[in-house]
Amino acid sequence: MQVLDGKKAGQAIREEIRLQVAQRLTEGKKIPHLAAILVGNNGASTTYVGAKVKACEEAGIRSTMHHFESDLTEFQLLEKIRDLNNDPDIDGILVQLPLPKQIREEEVIRAIDPEKDVDGFHPINQGLLMQGLPGFIPATPYGIVLLLQHYKIETTGKEAVVIGRSNIVGRPMSILLSQPGPAGNCTVTLCHSKTQNLNEHIRRADIVVAALGQPEFVKADMIKPGAVVIDVGITRVDNPSKKSGFELKGDVDFSNVSPLCSWITPVPGGVGPMTIAALLQNTLLACVRRNN
Ligand code: NAP
Repeated sequence: MQVLDGKKAGQAIREEIRLQVAQRLTEGKKIPHLAAILVGNNGASTTYVGAKVKACEEAGIRSTMHHFESDLTEFQLLEKIRDLNNDPDIDGILVQLPLPKQIREEEVIRAIDPEKDVDGFHPINQGLLMQGLPGFIPATPYGIVLLLQHYKIETTGKEAVVIGRSNIVGRPMSILLSQPGPAGNCTVTLCHSKTQNLNEHIRRADIVVAALGQPEFVKADMIKPGAVVIDVGITRVDNPSKKSGFELKGDVDFSNVSPLCSWITPVPGGVGPMTIAALLQNTLLACVRRNN
């Protein structure tokens, strides 16, 4: 078994982005600028946004954090997004999900200028992805593609099973794996909570992407020996022995599944750092598209 080390691969991609940003600076071109919006004080969301802003800084990408109280109204958030859409210095807009319940996420996602939608959640970008046209690919599935490419994992002709059909992870992942091109050309089965005989589907897979948000759901007896396993799940599970009071668990029972795999991502240190690298890649791309 070998580890698909997202920390290492993500670092290599971020270093490449840093060099490209430095080159832009030398050439007098615009430096990418990401606006990150956080509403409320959810611990996990605060950590994720903080990590994204820090990664921007390290790559020389400008970032501005807009932090609002949890009683922010949808109208106020939409106004903020409109201002950021109209600000020529802003290349990318990220709204950290989930949002408080008084704010409709679909409305917020739709309000973002698709050319600044570096999370790739806008229906226009999802439509472009569907047709294999250039847009913005959601950061988590894009990060997984970059990880598969970094480790030169052969995907052509393989059976892939994606567990989870969300618009931000599972569904775009299934599209990317099935498309022609790098990290594509798979025969894909997309599973969800209504799938019958789920274990049988997973057992057939050469590549498994687990994105269901159920800690350690994927067990050793579901895995075909030699499979490549990508664990997207991150769930905070109470653990009083930890200083933080919790530990992060993936969707895969790593200790029992990993001996069977050819490659597997750890949690943490697998898909998470690749999501950040992909977000930075999208932000640089947005800047290049908008300003050359
Ligand atoms: P989500 O919106 O809750 O979607 C979960 C999906 O899993 C749904 O399609 C659901 O099916 C399916 N599902 C749930 N239980 C299932 C079961 N027992 N059997 C089969 N399918 C099941 O979650 P998400 O936003 O896609 O995120 C999934 C996980 O990835 C979460 O742990 C999240 O924290 C993590 N995540 C990690 C990163 C990262 O950077 N590492 C980024 C994003 C998300 P139905 O559609 O039928 O309900």
